[in-house]
Amino acid sequence: LKIQDYRPESFIDFTQADNVVAYQAALKKVRTELVGKHYPLIIDGVRVDTAEKLESINPCDTSEIVGSTAKATVDDAQKALDGAWKAFESWKKWTPDARARILLKASALLKARRLEACALMSIEVGKNYAEADVEVAEAIDFLEYYARSAMKYSGFGAAETTWYAGEENGLMFMPIGVGVSISPWNFPCAIYLGMLAAPIVAGNCVIAKPAEDSGLIAGFVTDIMLEAGLPAGVLQFLPGVGEEVGEYLTTHAKTRFITFTGSRGVGLHINEVAAKVQPGQKWIKKVILELGGKDGMIVDETADIETAVTAAVQGAFGFNGQKCSAMSRLIVVDSVYDEVVNQFVERAGKLKVGTGEDNANVTAVVNEESFEKIGKYIGIGKGEAKLLLGGETPGEHGGKQGYYVQPTIFGDVPADARIAQEEIFGPVISVIRARDWQDALDIANSTEYGLTGGVCSRDRARLEQARNEFEAGNLYFNRKITGAIVGVQPFGGYNMSGTDSKAGGPDYLANFMQLKTVTERW
Ligand code: NAP
Repeated sequence: LKIQDYRPESFIDFTQADNVVAYQAALKKVRTELVGKHYPLIIDGVRVDTAEKLESINPCDTSEIVGSTAKATVDDAQKALDGAWKAFESWKKWTPDARARILLKASALLKARRLEACALMSIEVGKNYAEADVEVAEAIDFLEYYARSAMKYSGFGAAETTWYAGEENGLMFMPIGVGVSISPWNFPCAIYLGMLAAPIVAGNCVIAKPAEDSGLIAGFVTDIMLEAGLPAGVLQFLPGVGEEVGEYLTTHAKTRFITFTGSRGVGLHINEVAAKVQPGQKWIKKVILELGGKDGMIVDETADIETAVTAAVQGAFGFNGQKCSAMSRLIVVDSVYDEVVNQFVERAGKLKVGTGEDNANVTAVVNEESFEKIGKYIGIGKGEAKLLLGGETPGEHGGKQGYYVQPTIFGDVPADARIAQEEIFGPVISVIRARDWQDALDIANSTEYGLTGGVCSRDRARLEQARNEFEAGNLYFNRKITGAIVGVQPFGGYNMSGTDSKAGGPDYLANFMQLKTVTERW
């Protein structure tokens, strides 16, 4: 396969008026062509509808049903599993080059419909233009990057072994079988697509279970994968309820691997049920988990305050803090605390609240459950710390009912407070005062999570100490702590944040393969 080296997609500049106009045209097109659409299941390449369906609600205007998907039953899940194993018999024999071409074709198709995918997410999950655009860019990057990664694992001798007299020895990477990919609603295009494309290009078949809140964008990109030429059964599209079909598949004896991105609670539950061997099960299931975070950024007295405040605002409030990588704790050294916090509150106070379609800075949170949960934590915060900004959950904006939460900042939060330890997953930030640099680093490491983290400092020795001692899978210096780019910043967390499998990293595909050593005596 002759292709140029991988280069990440660049982002669209929405300070340019013509790009805004193009986005608005895409919104109009999506409203005409995709809103109201229903996506059935796809089992063995055939669209199958179900008696019940799952509706997607626009979080910024809850009176609007954006569209629907079928709702798989366990019977459908069983059929998907059987069909995927049948498809595996031939798919595993395809060369990595041939499989990679399908990802590259899918990437070309998604590039051509980039703004449509963005616009659909603005309506379905409330992303503003830039947030939707970086996500679709990431989805394209996953396809391009994993297509190239597949080459590395091709053929006999793909990994190095030592020469030995009189024998030929070599290692081969083999696909492992049929797995289930369970994804969250917060990156419903990129994570959904990346988590199915990687195991598929490695030669496996996948049952993809998208999140209930974002079935339409999942259906949209699934269609692109099929249009790109995936043979029937390699990708089974199975929207449904996590506790029903998700549970059935993660427990099932015929599931070979599970790749899951979502909350700590569900991830740990999956880890537990997957560990139990079922009658007739022939393997130990591989479980790859990418979970939550309580990500902290330190600002010390040597930091450039302007850089630090910009990083804090971007990291905290991008997509309303609904990112596993979002900065939910700002840890500031006492001597600059007042200056940093005043500027942070002032800048955050200027953020525009509104809809994704209107390109607001902060939009509505995804669903009623999140809205209630965030409101509960704001209440807890009022008892634990000093409210500096926001603190209300109006539940409406501009005459529209929606899951609107004000950007909220609490100051002087004790490091062990619940709002400083538990993932809230919304625009609610805990600012924590540290005595000095070492205290700040200790506070940063004081949660059970370890996903992203950051340090704003101009002290070289401290940056080097943080490089080694800050417990985070993705650590950033003097910039925002969100926005990892495929291939550039392989992504995945430590501790309770997951199994650190590093999506978009050089060895990610190996998660979905097994190695065989073959020796021939001459
Ligand atoms: P979630 O509630 O854990 O749901 C994730 C997926 O799991 C959904 O598809 C859900 O289906 C399914 N599910 C629920 N119960 C299940 C069960 N018993 N068995 C199998 N599947 C089940 O998470 P979320 O609210 O969608 O996403 C937000 C979370 O994801 C946050 O904690 C965030 O930090 C984390 N996240 C982590 C990363 C990372 O890379 N580390 C990236 C993004 C997000 P339903 O939709 O039907 O409930």
